[in-house]
Amino acid sequence: MTDFNSIVADILPGLVQLRHELHAHPEIRFQEQWTSDRISEFLAHAGIPHTRGHARGTGIVATVAGASATTVVLRADIDALEIGERTGAPYASQIAGRMHACGHDGHIACLCGAALALARLAETSPLPNTVKFVFQPGEELGAGGRYIVEEGLIDGASAAFALHAWPGLPVGVFALKSGPVMASADWFRITITGRGCHGADPAAGIDPVVVAAQIVIALQTIVSREIDPQNPAVVTIGKIESGAANNVIPETAVLEGSYRALDMRVRDHMTEAVGRISRSIAAAHRATAEVVFGDDYYIPLVNDAAMTDFARKTIVETLGPNAVVEIPRPAMASEDFAFYLEKVPGSFLVFGMGEAKPLHSPYFNFNDDAIPHAVRVLVALAMQFRG
Ligand SMILES: [Zn+2]
Ligand SMILES: [Zn+2]
Repeated sequence: MTDFNSIVADILPGLVQLRHELHAHPEIRFQEQWTSDRISEFLAHAGIPHTRGHARGTGIVATVAGASATTVVLRADIDALEIGERTGAPYASQIAGRMHACGHDGHIACLCGAALALARLAETSPLPNTVKFVFQPGEELGAGGRYIVEEGLIDGASAAFALHAWPGLPVGVFALKSGPVMASADWFRITITGRGCHGADPAAGIDPVVVAAQIVIALQTIVSREIDPQNPAVVTIGKIESGAANNVIPETAVLEGSYRALDMRVRDHMTEAVGRISRSIAAAHRATAEVVFGDDYYIPLVNDAAMTDFARKTIVETLGPNAVVEIPRPAMASEDFAFYLEKVPGSFLVFGMGEAKPLHSPYFNFNDDAIPHAVRVLVALAMQFRG
């Protein structure tokens, strides 16, 4: 593998340069046009065949063919966030109110590095597996991974892996866990319609604000009274909108919220309960509640046990026994790699950024020192997998 070490050393400066260019050009969900062009340019320069226009337009799938049809999918998300950057980095965002604050610029650089390294290795002898590199748009609030899966782009694959940057974990260390790792996420809007009237004469109308208040409280009983306490779940109302004056009973009230769970059955129960409780409470007070659910939902992310064991073993062989730790417990945040794992067995791993600021902070910056470790692990996963 000295040959491989020299390949990594050779390509590293180019990957850091690419990461900084991407960092300076952050683009949010499904608008990643510059990003998509830059990735395509990188792949074309490396002679790696790829198709474009996926997942609503900016997704790219590159392939390095191997000796067998066994296909390993490696995925990077490519979108940025609606955050104004405050890192002060010389290559800081050139777009106001947009920033790579979740490390996806680094994910792209690492996956480009793995593609380039594997393409170089394939020049001397064929790879054991075919490797598909998915550059996926719209991870943040777009559930872009669902489009990749629905387009059939990972059909027939034997394994799928994705890495995510993780502040607080040392550089060169990877964390993993089999089973549920991230939660589902669904969004909803409840529009309560009553009848507006003078604030001094409530009997002349139907007050949607009082109904809304009861719905806010009652939705919390889904978690406390309807879900097994052994199963994590959360309901949040993040927005309430109604009325214009303190002496007028308004016509409508609008609530917006989200709910999350680690188990699909719990998630489905919550979907039913949000609608049932909202409509029933409204009806009890002669009002109506229309409940609309967002179609950009996320499902729970569940890592396959055998694939996670394979990843653990592969990282230990590649970087040593101290390079792997266990993720202690699932997070209630979400990740659209879940849709890949619903279709293909695989594992979602996180890798250390050292003492970086938290993800989604305006001060977060991906740690370039992590790139060679991530490239090594991605290459090892692709090379050592046996279907
Ligand atoms: Zn994020
Ligand atoms: Zn992210």
